[in-house]
Amino acid sequence: MLDILIIGGGPIGLACGLAAQKAGLTFCIVEKGCLVNSLYNYPSTMTFFSTSEKLEIGGVPFVTVHNKPTRNDALEYYRRVALSNNLPLNLFEEVTDVTAINGGYNITTTKASYQARKVILSTGFYDIAVNLDIPGEDLPKVKHYYQDPHYYTLQKVVVVGSSNSAIDVALETYRKGAEVTLVIRGGEVSNRVKYWVRPDIINRIKEGSIKAYFNSSLAAVRQQEVDIQTPDGLVTVPNDFVMAMTGYKPNFDFLAKLGIQLTDDKFIPTYNPDTMESNQPGLYLAGVVVGGLDTHLWFIENSRIHAEMIIADIMEKGKLCI
Ligand code: FAD
Repeated sequence: MLDILIIGGGPIGLACGLAAQKAGLTFCIVEKGCLVNSLYNYPSTMTFFSTSEKLEIGGVPFVTVHNKPTRNDALEYYRRVALSNNLPLNLFEEVTDVTAINGGYNITTTKASYQARKVILSTGFYDIAVNLDIPGEDLPKVKHYYQDPHYYTLQKVVVVGSSNSAIDVALETYRKGAEVTLVIRGGEVSNRVKYWVRPDIINRIKEGSIKAYFNSSLAAVRQQEVDIQTPDGLVTVPNDFVMAMTGYKPNFDFLAKLGIQLTDDKFIPTYNPDTMESNQPGLYLAGVVVGGLDTHLWFIENSRIHAEMIIADIMEKGKLCI
């Protein structure tokens, strides 16, 4: 029986592994995709808003030439950290169930089953997109994930949202020759947009290079056009692709299946903020999965400390047996 099984090989799952290793515990990290799967699926051109030292885990320096690392810098860093520390990682293996057994948990995956005294759930929020719930959303031209702007050259692209992701998509595709229309629910570009990007998008909208509908929502998608509900009524515009950058959410069904209680309004899981232990004894939560629908509150920056908190709790309270 392992001391700990860590579900999810993102930055925080790796941080938990490093902390467990330092404490001399036996553990395994099980990841359903590739190493740091969420980061791998970020836009190829993406730059973090955090400076590199704030993304460091396990005290390993993250050295970059520019102070804000790119996705590729981060992939390089987390890969080097994982490999040079020989972290036990089982990739492309999804955890499908976790059940309590005498003295710990039985963990079922798509490839095997494991037994562990403790389980850390660090499954993030990037796997499930928040839907628009409008007609036509299931058309293949509607995308919730964006890799690269080149694909959209000479295309009519509607970008839904006003978050950093939406604004990055709008500016990048516009600069590669797409005809971009932004659909924004509020009255202005979000204040959370990176401070060095916000003036850029505001000026592109002002000069008319990018069309924006404020206080508006996408109402329907069809093969060659979309309907936008605006304060002046329904507007129909020709369209090739819809980039629905409306956010992502943790896998609440999976959390509930594991017996973790969620709040009614924002689906925030129940956990002790001092130890990160959930309402299920010996089952800990780490990283951005703790945010419920408030995904904007948690980052690598402020959730990497969960790793030390959890391992300290497991060690200091002598909780290696439930
Ligand atoms: P994740 O990295 O999402 O890792 C969770 C892992 O669990 C995934 O690899 C997933 O495949 C795996 N998994 C899920 N379910 C299962 C299962 N059942 N079995 C096995 N494996 C499973 N944060 C910052 O601090 N600074 C930034 O500048 C920043 N910029 C961002 C920019 C973008 C565009 C986005 C989307 C996020 C950004 N974030 C930033 C947030 C940060 O990247 C995430 O918060 C970070 O990935 C969280 O790490 P995590 O380990 O908690 O979750």
